[in-house]
Amino acid sequence: MIDIKRRSALIVVDMQNDFLPGGALPVAEGDQIIDGINELARKFYNKDKIVIFSQDWHPEGHASFASSHEGKNPGNPIEGVPGIGPVLWPDHCVQNTYGAEINERIEKKYGIAIIQKGTNPNIDSYSAFFENDKKTKTGLTDLLREKRIKNVYVCGLALDYCCFYTAMDAKSEGFNVFFIKNLTKGIDIPVKNIQNSLDSMTSAGIEIIEV
Ligand SMILES: [Zn+2]
Repeated sequence: MIDIKRRSALIVVDMQNDFLPGGALPVAEGDQIIDGINELARKFYNKDKIVIFSQDWHPEGHASFASSHEGKNPGNPIEGVPGIGPVLWPDHCVQNTYGAEINERIEKKYGIAIIQKGTNPNIDSYSAFFENDKKTKTGLTDLLREKRIKNVYVCGLALDYCCFYTAMDAKSEGFNVFFIKNLTKGIDIPVKNIQNSLDSMTSAGIEIIEV
């Protein structure tokens, strides 16, 4: 296990039932990272370290759902709709449903906050920092600054969407960012999206690590 730097936050992204095997938008093997995330979260449960969970939290009929667009299916590309895409998704993480709940095996007691995202019906939010319009803030930056956090560690689901955008925004917000590759799993849509995401993060100065 790595030595975690002081003044660090662990962001556990979207460990929700719909993103796990059996859910509406399952990430293959997503359940295999649960124990490792709990073990790491326990180490962040410390006076100069914090754990924060993010939760995809859509109203019914959200614009990121293929079902909201005439003639479209999940996985179809979508262009020209600001804040949505590059592909459409099945209905998932609808507010107050079982699918939207953070999985019961995740030890939420270690967290100080749950950041909900994707609540605007017309804009998606892959990042836990900003909605996809890159303007609307979730409040996560302010929370981290208030807690005097300098280092952000990212894990959870899915590698090439919500984890990727969360890590990139953490970096652009001025934090040192560590991306925990073995505590995340990807969707890989479109093809090679996982490798491209890892390459983009490395180029941006994010450290890809394993714990
Ligand atoms: Zn979503």
